[in-house]
Amino acid sequence: MKARVAIGIDIGGTNTKLALVTNDGMLRGARSFKTQDYPDFPHYLAELTKQINELIEFKKTSSLADTPIAGIGVGAPNANWNNGCIVSPVNLKWGKVDIAHQLEAATGLPVELDNDANTAAIGEALFGVAKGVRDFVLVTLGTGVGTGIFAEGIIIRSENGKAGEGGHIVVQKDGRLCGCGGKGHLEIYASSTGVEMTAQEIFGKKVTAKEISELYKKGDALAEKVVDQTAEWLGLGLSTMAAVLNPSLFVIAGGVSQISEDFDKRVQHWLDQYAFKAIRHEARVKTTSTNQETGSVLGAAALILHSKS
Ligand SMILES: [Zn+2]
Repeated sequence: MKARVAIGIDIGGTNTKLALVTNDGMLRGARSFKTQDYPDFPHYLAELTKQINELIEFKKTSSLADTPIAGIGVGAPNANWNNGCIVSPVNLKWGKVDIAHQLEAATGLPVELDNDANTAAIGEALFGVAKGVRDFVLVTLGTGVGTGIFAEGIIIRSENGKAGEGGHIVVQKDGRLCGCGGKGHLEIYASSTGVEMTAQEIFGKKVTAKEISELYKKGDALAEKVVDQTAEWLGLGLSTMAAVLNPSLFVIAGGVSQISEDFDKRVQHWLDQYAFKAIRHEARVKTTSTNQETGSVLGAAALILHSKS
């Protein structure tokens, strides 16, 4: 396999992480800085460009010196692959920023931008448990719920660039108020916020998702109830996706996917309960094998390494 390398950048609400990523999934020169330390987007972009240039200098002194950089892949919330823009990301007062074109102009390298659920899915396809799987859905269960869809080997983005918002399918009529303003969406049941709302209902007091995980390990019956109800809400949501897409795999990732060791098995159980009979048992549920710290950078670089291999 000919060595190839790309720069992967994950723009999170708290930290921006970047690194050189090789086509065998190795990270080199990884670094990060606070996304919110800058008064506006131009100042942030200046810092990001500086960090990229330092990474390029580092590469010249490394074993990758003779391998040209294929491009820069960027993953971010509310990012649109079609136009290269990030629109009003949560936690950041940027408005709409044309980051892909501005980074191209600043670095002279080709840049691809996509939303972070899509880059996570592409990362799974290239380096993770979805390697070789044509039809799968990556579901990130963090402070929100994001989905990235591969159908027939292709990531689904749609003409308007917003396909794959599986976190906002309705699982409960007139249910809990979702962060988006809608009601009863999967996100407000299967995210860490959702877990805490379910815990409040079951314990009658505030219990964090982390505490639920710890109580579960000790065999606490109420914590088990919270975990199983969360798995049921998610299994219900996945059954809707399964009926539409007939994927062979759901990859679950993010903090909530780690809430219990058997969370994937519980989700599988509930998915099979709710799934359309003809496709029941066809979709497996697996927890991501990708490291949570580095996975987002790997996925961002996979945008380049996947599309130009
Ligand atoms: Zn919603």
